Amino acid sequence: MNMNKITVVLASRNRGKVAELQRLLTQYLGDVIELRSLDDVGITDEIEENGKTFEENAMIKAQAAARSGYPGIGDDSGLVVPALDMEPGIYSARYAGEHGNDAANNALLLQKLTGVADRRAAFICSLAMAFPEGTAPIRATGAVEGEILITPRGKGGFGYDPLFWYDPMGKTMAEMTADEKNAISHRGAAVRQLAARIARRYGLVEDNY
Ligand code: IMP
Repeated sequence: MNMNKITVVLASRNRGKVAELQRLLTQYLGDVIELRSLDDVGITDEIEENGKTFEENAMIKAQAAARSGYPGIGDDSGLVVPALDMEPGIYSARYAGEHGNDAANNALLLQKLTGVADRRAAFICSLAMAFPEGTAPIRATGAVEGEILITPRGKGGFGYDPLFWYDPMGKTMAEMTADEKNAISHRGAAVRQLAARIARRYGLVEDNY
């Protein structure tokens, strides 16, 4: 059958991020969505992520991507630590000042938790899908709970992964394979929820879980 694919724009310029989400959506929904990046659709201006929550930032990005004329998906994620008043939260990527400096962010997190007994933490991922026609958006959120170690372990993953202990598997996120992490991670959970909601919205069969 010659089915037209649904074109969707991810609010990102990162090819790896687009490829990864494309792989997961195809795995869950079949080959029905063609994901493009902001660059693919000629959106060059910076998106100002000025929301106060993960959900708001994901929606701001989704709406910016939907200005392409195609449905847009936006995401925002980060680490929350109850003992630190839910820091670093939406500032996770630039906790120590410089955007994306994982070593500095991890060092600051460890410093702030020195002597703190309650080391519980959670990763949160919020996804939003907005439509150019202004139809109701789709939202999805995933979370995973763990604890912040005193010293890092593992070489995989990124960001706070080497400090994030996931007790049910007896390892940190940085000691997991990509498939293991996807099975339990905040992002994996959010993408599965989004895929299920896309399937319902478009009347697709989701028999690929
Ligand atoms: P973003 O949503 O891709 O902008 O991610 C925000 C920041 O949250 C990242 O730079 C990391 O510091 C942190 N973060 C989000 N997800 C993860 C994860 O899966 N592992 C480790 N750090 C993460």
